[in-house]
Amino acid sequence: MDFKELASKYKTPLYVYDFNYIKERYEALKNAFYARKSLVCYAVKANSNLSVLKFLADLGAGFDCVSIGEVKRALMVGAKRYQIIFSGVGKSDEELKEALENEILLINVESFAELLRLEEIAKGLNLKARISIRVNPGVDAKTHPYISTGLNENKFGVDAQTAKKMYIHAKTSEFLEPTGIHFHIGSQLTSLSPIIDAAKIVSELLRELRALEIDIKFFDVGGGLGIIYNDEKEINLYDYAQGILGALKGQDVTIVCEPGRFIVGNAGYFVASVLYEKFNGKKRFVITDGAMNDLIRPSLYGAHHKIFAYGKDENLGTCDVVGPVCESGDFLAKDIKLPECESGDIIVVKGAGAYGFSMSSNYNTRNRAAEVCVLDGKDRLIRRRECFEDVVAPEIEFLESADARAK
Ligand SMILES: *Cc1c(COP(=O)(O)O)cnc(C)c1O
Repeated sequence: MDFKELASKYKTPLYVYDFNYIKERYEALKNAFYARKSLVCYAVKANSNLSVLKFLADLGAGFDCVSIGEVKRALMVGAKRYQIIFSGVGKSDEELKEALENEILLINVESFAELLRLEEIAKGLNLKARISIRVNPGVDAKTHPYISTGLNENKFGVDAQTAKKMYIHAKTSEFLEPTGIHFHIGSQLTSLSPIIDAAKIVSELLRELRALEIDIKFFDVGGGLGIIYNDEKEINLYDYAQGILGALKGQDVTIVCEPGRFIVGNAGYFVASVLYEKFNGKKRFVITDGAMNDLIRPSLYGAHHKIFAYGKDENLGTCDVVGPVCESGDFLAKDIKLPECESGDIIVVKGAGAYGFSMSSNYNTRNRAAEVCVLDGKDRLIRRRECFEDVVAPEIEFLESADARAK
């Protein structure tokens, strides 16, 4: 991709997404389960741009949402109601109500208290809520603690015994319909065994539920498939699918998976311009117009993204790549090798398609970046760059004097 040209056409900082790659990844995962009923529900939070969602909806993907806002995004791009799942550890009454009214496939319940709330709300609407219960299998996903969710010390889901009690309650309720079972043990998983261990535990519970005549149709194995940022190894999709099928031991269910990062992570590039280079006697800094508010993963998780200077020879001196935000934690990379850069050079951060733009903010009153997609060699804007007026709009009417408002 000609990042220099894209940068001059759309300005920087900029996100660029390779839609052909997104398609490839979606289809690879879908095909891994080809012999079985399966549903790939893309995890919207990884990258919730409407054009990304529309592209995936057109490919036949379902959607895993963690707020009613994400559900609405999915519906807006024409996703089918019966392919939308709503998860999350703390859904509000309004969110549950709206999800029910929209008749989506499943509401993933994460506590007994939530189940009772949902039952009340469904009763008020005289509807039957299709539920899935998130089981926390108590396995160590061996990933970064911030993105590990399958240990009992995490806030997510309920233990298998509690889940069983919840299903028994739901079975007897007029307003609840046990439909799915769910686990999601963490993100950026690069080892298969914790997923299979979890699948076995949850599959065992599924069998116990069958014995109680609780008929679960969807077996949701969550997301979390890791990707290559540097030298990681991806989980082999064939082994993944076979491992899950093995854990199910022939039980007849539709397999649902909820990949986010796997589909969009390496489709995305974050493109920034070099403003200055500076040397403080000890350390070399490459200062760019992209910052932690645009891409927070390095600051938040200590994530390593590969970075290169477009069109330049690689790897001369060691430097930190930093942004203009007033925090020492504002960096895109530390101690990496880059050629000598000058003002106007383009740097490209790889692996930025997931949890990049979707985690961006207006910190330091910075306008959020533009987003562009490239499909079959053609580029197209899919989100315009924010302007100052966008950023201050929700505040401006509250200024006390009309005078100040006019300025
Ligand atoms: C975040 C999340 C996902 C997606 O995680 P990835 O690591 O991006 O695949 C899937 N399911 C649930 C419930 C999540 O919270």
